[in-house]
Amino acid sequence: MLTEQDEPNFHAYNYRHVGDLRVLNNKPNGECAHLADNFCTIYKKRPQVCRTYDCRKHWKILPESEQHRFRKSDMGRAAFASLSTLDADDIADLPAYRQRATPAIDAKTGLPKAK
Ligand code: SF4
Repeated sequence: MLTEQDEPNFHAYNYRHVGDLRVLNNKPNGECAHLADNFCTIYKKRPQVCRTYDCRKHWKILPESEQHRFRKSDMGRAAFASLSTLDADDIADLPAYRQRATPAIDAKTGLPKAK
C-alpha cells in the first residue's frame, strides 16, 4: 500500500488503485512487479512500506489462522524460516510494529496517514 509519503515517487511505481488505496502491482506468480532476479528495481525509491515491513514481525502479529495462510506464500515461508533470527529488540518492538503496520486511513485522501 502506497502512502502520501511515497507521492514524490509515484511516477516510478507500477501500481493500481484498489478503491481509494494505491497498491503495487504483482506479476502473475504473485511477486512484486518491481522484483527482478531477487533485486528491487526501484530500491532507492522503494515505498515506505518496503522500508519498514519485516516479514518476521508480520508473522508474529498475525492471528494463528492468518499465519497458516501467510505460510502458503513465498514470503510467509521465508518469514517462518527466519523467525529464530528475531532478537530481544525485535520482540520488544512488536507492539509498535503492529501499530505501524495498521495505519489509520486519512478520510480526505483515502491514503494511509503518514506517521
Ligand atoms: S522492496 Fe520488494 S516489494 Fe518493495 S518495491 Fe522493491 S521489490 Fe517490490
